[in-house]
Amino acid sequence: MRPVVFNVPNQYNYFMLKTSEINAFLIAPCGMNCGLCMAYLREKKHCPGCNGDDEQKPSISCVRCGIKNCENLKDIKSGLCVDCAQFPCARIKHIDTRYRTKYGMSMIENLEKIQSLGMNLFIKQEQTRWECPKCGGVLCVHRDACPSCGKKYKRKSYRMLSR
Ligand code: SF4
Ligand code: SF4
Ligand SMILES: [Zn+2]
Repeated sequence: MRPVVFNVPNQYNYFMLKTSEINAFLIAPCGMNCGLCMAYLREKKHCPGCNGDDEQKPSISCVRCGIKNCENLKDIKSGLCVDCAQFPCARIKHIDTRYRTKYGMSMIENLEKIQSLGMNLFIKQEQTRWECPKCGGVLCVHRDACPSCGKKYKRKSYRMLSR
């Protein structure tokens, strides 16, 4: 899978990602879907995603991420933590708890779905799960407003949407 090439950002200074553009390239080893990340969707300090070029990443913490750079990953063909004997390790549990609590999303759940359904079906589910009902663009897990059309969602309804 290849990275998406963006051209022009919208009036909110975000790139509009179509649900059909969510692909396996955007799925990080930890199970994060980088296509939902504010850093990926924004124009300024745009991050190309965990699997993107390190030289284009604005955040040094993403380049030095302890999960992405984990020694165990080098021997895992899928490149995903779910296939590691230590899964879910303390690092994965830590980020998973943070995302469950703050954003109503679970990396562990994502990885378990990939394992049971396969990547293609998981991607299909993500395309439905994160589709803005108003404009059809991809929602951002970090924001309460759609990055494509600006429609605001109450955090509660947003979470319900994301289930
Ligand atoms: S900041 Fe991290 S989670 Fe967001 S797109 Fe970049 S690598 Fe992915
Ligand atoms: S689950 Fe395994 S590969 Fe992933 S960060 Fe933990 S130890 Fe490393
Ligand atoms: Zn929208």
